[in-house]
Amino acid sequence: MMRHAAATAVTLWMAGMGWAQAPATLQPFVKIDAPVVVLTNVRVIDGTGAPARENQMVTLDHGKITAVGPQTADQLLPTGAKVIDLAGKTVFPGLVGMHEHLFYPLPDGGPGLLPLYGEMADSAPRLYLAGGVTAARTAGSVEPYTDISVKEAIDAGKIPGPKLFLTSPYLEGSPAIGPQLHTLTGPDDAARLVDYWAAEGMTSFKAYMHITPEELKAAIDHAHEHGLKITGHLCAVGFKEAAALGIDNLEHGLAVDTEFYSQKKTGVCPGQHPPQVELAKMDVEGPEIQGTIRDLIAHHVAVTSTLAIFESFVPNRPPMSEEMRVRTSLLPDAWGSYAATRAGIAEHEADAIWPRLLKMEMQFERDFVKQGGVLMSGCDPTGYGGVLPGFGDQRSLELLVEAGFTPEEAIHIATENGAEFLGEGAHFGTIAVGKAADLVVVDGNPAKDIADVEKVETVFKDGVGYDPQKLIGSVRGLMGLR
Ligand SMILES: [Zn+2]
Repeated sequence: MMRHAAATAVTLWMAGMGWAQAPATLQPFVKIDAPVVVLTNVRVIDGTGAPARENQMVTLDHGKITAVGPQTADQLLPTGAKVIDLAGKTVFPGLVGMHEHLFYPLPDGGPGLLPLYGEMADSAPRLYLAGGVTAARTAGSVEPYTDISVKEAIDAGKIPGPKLFLTSPYLEGSPAIGPQLHTLTGPDDAARLVDYWAAEGMTSFKAYMHITPEELKAAIDHAHEHGLKITGHLCAVGFKEAAALGIDNLEHGLAVDTEFYSQKKTGVCPGQHPPQVELAKMDVEGPEIQGTIRDLIAHHVAVTSTLAIFESFVPNRPPMSEEMRVRTSLLPDAWGSYAATRAGIAEHEADAIWPRLLKMEMQFERDFVKQGGVLMSGCDPTGYGGVLPGFGDQRSLELLVEAGFTPEEAIHIATENGAEFLGEGAHFGTIAVGKAADLVVVDGNPAKDIADVEKVETVFKDGVGYDPQKLIGSVRGLMGLR
């Protein structure tokens, strides 16, 4: 039995007044909004990597976690609290997505038309939140001022979405991939852009494939002068070289590292495919790749795992059931483009290298973590489509488990590690007293079956419980359009 204890006068008054935390603009997406919420009989995966704990009670008070511990009989509950019995369900920290974008590839326009990415200012934030992503670092922008406006609108409670940590437009060398990216003209230009975007409020930087070592060095130094971090999806610069230059984070992992390629020329990107063909013949346990792992760890370089986007390059993966899950969120033309490309990849199954590369990437990530490296996770909703915000972040968890991590370790990679990297570890990333009430409630037990992370019932952000179906339903068919 549970008794109600006296609560503070303030809590009583607010509960009595029907005080809501979420502004009216967010109410259409909210299912639980009370000053004090107590989750009872719930399984907790706390984000630290510790095993799931059964039969716990978690108290959320004015947006913060104020108690977490075993459920006991005769337990005191705050007066006026909304009590929710979560028997059979699991709560884990809101996901901290570290390779996210607010843009998405526009449907293929046909021969002679430019490859373009459209800003998904309406759909992306809602799908992230619906998927349990309560904090997202973008990893490169194509519409920086829209990104900034969207973040401001979310922070002001005008639109639903995760806490955004914004990265500048890509720092890309020559030739830039696509017309939406600026082409750097040298180290001074890289420094100038870092200073400019820092002044505009960007808190992170992303170096891209054709950036030269000199440009990268200037970008790193200027980012660090501002106290900010820089990551990279590199190609002209190898991983060990970037680590020596002082980069903080590398995106995607082994599969994009060009440093082992026999034809590699200093400062030149040889494209992605030729190095990958040679990489696929290497052994992750061999001295070269193990040397890179040790080097990255020695230089404190974090790696962002993006297994969901890599999986999409493997013939007949992910299973069609995963794709049918996202189909109704996509613009029909975007679905058509995606399905055609997927079919094309499946036709070339016999000589595909990605089945091997995906396995190697998984092994690399496991070894990197085993030896002390910091691995984070993100969905990277780019490629040829099909990997969607939120949905892709859930799929990443499943793939980390396929890679050999326990479900609790996978959730730790996708929560606490990202929060710590962002310098937000004191504020969110685990289920602990004093942290923000950023939580995902799912039906079932992801510690037994990681696919249960897809069964999201409620996503709490700062103590407000959002309804994933309402968020997804409000942007049905819009991913790929707006
Ligand atoms: Zn990306």
